[in-house]
Amino acid sequence: MQYFNNNLFADAISSYEDARYVIFGVPYDGTTSFLAGTRDGPDAIRKVSYNFEQFLPEFGYTLSEAGIHDLGNLEVESLPEDVIAAVEDVARELREDGKVPVALGGEHSITLGLYRAYQSECFVVCDAHLDLREEFGNTPYNHACITRRVCEAGAQEVFIIGARSGTEEEYAFAQHLHLYSADCVRERGIATILDEIITTIAGRSVYLSIDADAIDCCLTPGLGTPEPFGITHFDVRDVIRRIGPLAEAFDYMEVCPIDAGQTAAVAGKLVREFIAAHRLHSMQ
Ligand code: MN
Ligand code: MN
Repeated sequence: MQYFNNNLFADAISSYEDARYVIFGVPYDGTTSFLAGTRDGPDAIRKVSYNFEQFLPEFGYTLSEAGIHDLGNLEVESLPEDVIAAVEDVARELREDGKVPVALGGEHSITLGLYRAYQSECFVVCDAHLDLREEFGNTPYNHACITRRVCEAGAQEVFIIGARSGTEEEYAFAQHLHLYSADCVRERGIATILDEIITTIAGRSVYLSIDADAIDCCLTPGLGTPEPFGITHFDVRDVIRRIGPLAEAFDYMEVCPIDAGQTAAVAGKLVREFIAAHRLHSMQ
């Protein structure tokens, strides 16, 4: 039999029953505050995933062996609370079935649905923005409020890496969290910061969320809310290689494919890295 390309993530060749990792897209950008277009993120990430070799030389691992299933894209409603509820339903089912979810956005508000299903003790997020607003655009479920909602949903420790944007109120709230700004990452180096985070996590459960705009928009300009002077794709790769294996759930949000493909390419590569790093760690 010949191989057929399709519009699912490359190497997602396992059945749902056999899979350990379940990818799903949430093509929703209903609350985006600046440029729309993250609804096209999941399919842009899938498309570029076929560009990469199955073998990951850094890991000595062939990704098609990991046990990956791609459910496709969730049908989305128009209100963010409805999308979040639908995502929570999907994530609960995945959790009950012992799967590791890999969600592709779409806007960052989607993360709340996944987080509510997993209720991980620690929440680690890479983001240019604090996302700690009480509400924005007349809704508490705007993508600018997501980390605040995760705090309220019961996260014991919240680590924000790469932030460089927020209101005075958000920065005041962030004093109760672990905030590693983009400048802090540049000054101290990501390795030292990750050592500190892993020590603080101390074996507790972890949710890992990547907002694509954590990376400097001069490097990956496919973003709805671009911010310069950010962290690099190398920094985010280090976060994924070291925190990824500890995570029970993972998402990559806010890819807005209006660039030459850089942002989706980084996302596609890093989703593959997450799965490889997580799989190898779990086999040890
Ligand atoms: Mn965000
Ligand atoms: Mn952001």
